[in-house]
Amino acid sequence: MARKNGKDGNGARDDKAEETRSQAPWSDHPPSFAGWARAAIAGSGTAPSLSPHLHLIPPPAAPGIVTVGPGQAFSLAAINPDATGGLDKAEAKAALDAQRTRIRSLQEKLYAEHRRSLLVVFQAIDTGGKDGTIRNVLEGVNPQGCRVWSFKVPSPEELDQDFLWRYHRRTPGRGLIGVFNRSHYEDVLVVRVKGLVPEETWRERYGLINEFERLLTLSGCVILKFFLHISKDEQKERLEARLADPEKHWKFDPADLMERKSWDAYQTAFDDALTRCSTPYAPWHVVPANRKWARNVMVARTIADTLEAMDPRFPEPRKGLEGITVPD
Ligand code: ADP
Repeated sequence: MARKNGKDGNGARDDKAEETRSQAPWSDHPPSFAGWARAAIAGSGTAPSLSPHLHLIPPPAAPGIVTVGPGQAFSLAAINPDATGGLDKAEAKAALDAQRTRIRSLQEKLYAEHRRSLLVVFQAIDTGGKDGTIRNVLEGVNPQGCRVWSFKVPSPEELDQDFLWRYHRRTPGRGLIGVFNRSHYEDVLVVRVKGLVPEETWRERYGLINEFERLLTLSGCVILKFFLHISKDEQKERLEARLADPEKHWKFDPADLMERKSWDAYQTAFDDALTRCSTPYAPWHVVPANRKWARNVMVARTIADTLEAMDPRFPEPRKGLEGITVPD
């Protein structure tokens, strides 16, 4: 997918993008954002005439992450879960700190601007590292501007609604970063693997999910979807570690062993979801996740780069502040 984010390969803004940005009346967000989104949705993200806000198209993911090309058949089997994206373990802590600092400062602006939102979706097989990634990457983020939602087996109330209902009511409002720990994709993953609804029902859902994400995008919500990819051997080690350490016993669920038996069925379901629901406006990013330290940096950098490309700004100060004095 071609993208333009107003940067050259070295990370410096190019003049044209800067010029375009300064011409764009900031107050017209989100209508122009919708224009940008429509251009992205039409798959024409490179046609500058379509929108003055093309620089808002999310930038490429961090090195090491594989972004699923919209319309391309994808298989996790082709991705090495041990990859580190060229990162060095000794430098990972400092690299993560640097990305977290960027996220914190950009989040403050996103919150103050109160015009757009960011939804970060995490999916993975059991023990894939969703919790650890969220904990590490979002450490220090102002909790007031962030909402994390975990989706478990649906409640009777949720099952009485359409399958997207429980997710839609948790999408981030303007100014917020929303995090989905599991997501609407469960309804084409576990639901498919366990045969919880008829095939024609889950098959219909890929298109419905794409439409749902299109609606969110057009409404000013940028969507970042991370699939954390671990190997079957790595899952075994992580389950064994939970059994071996009393402080991790609470994390061990015997049901995970049953799910592990369906490893291949899950991989097929993942491949299908990643293939069918990677769109120009909300592509899937596959993160090699066997090495937690590399995974964290890759995800943090991608979130920071995306927020930076969104370019949130503090609102214009109120007029006439100069003459005001605060009474004793
Ligand atoms: P986690 O593994 O995310 O830390 P749990 O161990 O409580 O949390 O597992 C949540 C369970 O809920 C998972 O087995 C997951 O497959 C299941 N689940 C999530 N969404 C759905 C859904 N829509 N339908 C059925 N099961 C679901």
